[in-house]
Amino acid sequence: MAPLLDLFVRWLRPVTLALLLVAVPAAAPLPAYGKVVAVATTGMIADAVRAVGGELVEVHGLMGPGVDPHLYKASQGDVRRMAAADVIFYNGLMLEGRLSDLLARMARQKPTVAVSEYVPQELLIEAAQFEGHYDPHIWFDLSLWKLAVERIRDGLIEVDPVNQQAYQQNAAAYMQELDRLDGYIRERLAEIPPAQRVLVTAHDAFGYFGLAYGIEVVGLQGISTDSEVGLRDIQNLVAFLVERGIKAVFVESSVPRRSLEAVVQGAAGRGHQVVIGGELYSDALGEPGTPAGSFVGMIRHNVDTIVAALK
Ligand SMILES: [Zn+2]
Repeated sequence: MAPLLDLFVRWLRPVTLALLLVAVPAAAPLPAYGKVVAVATTGMIADAVRAVGGELVEVHGLMGPGVDPHLYKASQGDVRRMAAADVIFYNGLMLEGRLSDLLARMARQKPTVAVSEYVPQELLIEAAQFEGHYDPHIWFDLSLWKLAVERIRDGLIEVDPVNQQAYQQNAAAYMQELDRLDGYIRERLAEIPPAQRVLVTAHDAFGYFGLAYGIEVVGLQGISTDSEVGLRDIQNLVAFLVERGIKAVFVESSVPRRSLEAVVQGAAGRGHQVVIGGELYSDALGEPGTPAGSFVGMIRHNVDTIVAALK
């Protein structure tokens, strides 16, 4: 070997080795100076992970505005993001029904956390149509969603214990915000005369909301959108609206509005006028940068829309 080249190789080898050691901390605990990379399935979960993670966590939300989690399938990009993440947060209770296999696969490689895990079974609503299944829309009862925030906090502490205190403080602040939101919901819904507290929507996403805040809920579809709406479902709902004299129904941002429009027409055909009372966000947040782009803003939008149409 030429002396010059020999010198170069001898100099380069330790440098390269050192670089490799810095660049690939394989299976080492997370460095305190790096951000935790988290993947969240729904917008509601991503919002909570951002709030609890603050500056310490980089959050990738998979499902954007208008996306239906019941039907959502992972893209190649999603699989890559999940494979590269330190931790994955998903709702569970079969909300993300078509991601089940992928989530099970990820759970063998890294912390993969169902945020619904801390909700005790006795507080879950059992799904009438599917035995042994529960209503997954727990974010609409803020006392349950606070348990999800606690699970997120503990999930972040598991992967980044050094920053435990920051996660605890952020989670406590976010839960206080949810407490204030809970007060807002109760205050506003009280403006609706009791007989008119009936919320009719495209699918049964508001069961926990109804139970927690004292409003009767009726969905054209069941707790999943993963089924066809039949003519009989439409006729039954029309009969219900006519009989109860209900004046407004609500479309959802993540569910096609066609079936509910058929209900409005059906009621008109029987001489009962029903209006579309507005669009609610059920299973997805609104566009980023708009009021409904955050979880708190989305709930406030829903409550304001419901109250304006029913009071
Ligand atoms: Zn849903």
